[in-house]
Amino acid sequence: PEAITVQELANRMAEKAADLVKSLFKMGMMVTINQTIDQDTAELLVEEFGHNIQRVSESDVDIDAAADVDAPETLKPRPPVVTIMGHVDHGKTSLLDALRGTDVVRGEAGGITQHIGAYQIKTKGGDLITFLDTPGHEAFTEMRMRGANVTDIVILVVAADDGIMPQTIEAINHTKAAGVPMIVAITKADKHEANPQKIRERLLEHEVIVEEMSGDVQDVEVSAKTGAGLDKLIEKILLQAELLELTANPDRAAEATVIEAKLDKGKGPLATVLVNRGTLKVGDILVVGTHSGRVRAMLDDKGRQIKEAPPALPVEVLGLGGVPMAGDTLTVVESEARAREVAAYRQEQATARRTTHAPASLENMFSALA
Ligand code: GDP
Ligand code: MG
Repeated sequence: PEAITVQELANRMAEKAADLVKSLFKMGMMVTINQTIDQDTAELLVEEFGHNIQRVSESDVDIDAAADVDAPETLKPRPPVVTIMGHVDHGKTSLLDALRGTDVVRGEAGGITQHIGAYQIKTKGGDLITFLDTPGHEAFTEMRMRGANVTDIVILVVAADDGIMPQTIEAINHTKAAGVPMIVAITKADKHEANPQKIRERLLEHEVIVEEMSGDVQDVEVSAKTGAGLDKLIEKILLQAELLELTANPDRAAEATVIEAKLDKGKGPLATVLVNRGTLKVGDILVVGTHSGRVRAMLDDKGRQIKEAPPALPVEVLGLGGVPMAGDTLTVVESEARAREVAAYRQEQATARRTTHAPASLENMFSALA
């Protein structure tokens, strides 16, 4: 059982320490803000403030998890989020572009493609699928290391005219470590040197047993060049998504994950985020990483201004106080004062972490040099 100071707990709850002291007094405890209380008392306090606590995922992850879970009846189906991985030159970018081309909305509106790190398509059947437009393992692992698990399904791309390469194996390992289901896309199936069967056999050596080899990993031959197999791939994604029963509560304050962020000369800090739950709205006050902000405008991947972003819709957000990092959580809070308070708290934490870890990383540097 851990102890925590009243001040620290207040910070995590984004409440005033004085209010906590008052509550403790009412419970019969005379405690000052710098004194520690035990976990049970901390939990009592959290419960006490329960109805008006604004969850801030990073600053209070270790307490109050129960109060933060959405009730089953609030959950509604949401689109799957898909990441494409595989060896360099095996056709990840081409496949992402080809899949983007199947979007019926884009077809109708003739929209202009915005590269914002993720996009969403509407299939012929009316289903939505979100693709992370940042192929590669680094984005995936970095996000995971930062505690952000946004990917529901991984598409492992293997070129039919090549074989299992180092980055293919890496991708398999990352996917397994993340416990995310995989669909194998054997690309460049149009090439006359293509030998999809050889790929299936080779995958066995890495314990990826595809359906054709009587395993349970779905596989499909595709060509980004001719478009062959794309419909089948989409079908398999939807089938996998159905098995996962992906849901989120859209009717609450939004929580989102930063996919990528940058500083734009004209627009200021820009972040592409993926809403995990709730609905992000223009005007919302937020904390993201160590920054506060207010959603001034949102753009979708077709460059359209939108007012509301439901779960799994990637949007570019304008109005942040600074540039966050990929993997940061964006949390909507109820007031600017609270947003600033939490941002300040996180800056403090970040500084403390840097100070604490400095010797260790210096050591690493030296051993790396040795
Ligand atoms: P990435 O490095 O995995 O993103 O691979 P790219 O998408 O950039 O593709 C690498 C090369 O393979 C490019 O020259 C593509 O034109 C080619 N390519 C990708 N997909 C296909 C395909 O389905 N058929 C054929 N014939 N060529 C492809
Ligand atoms: Mg590429």
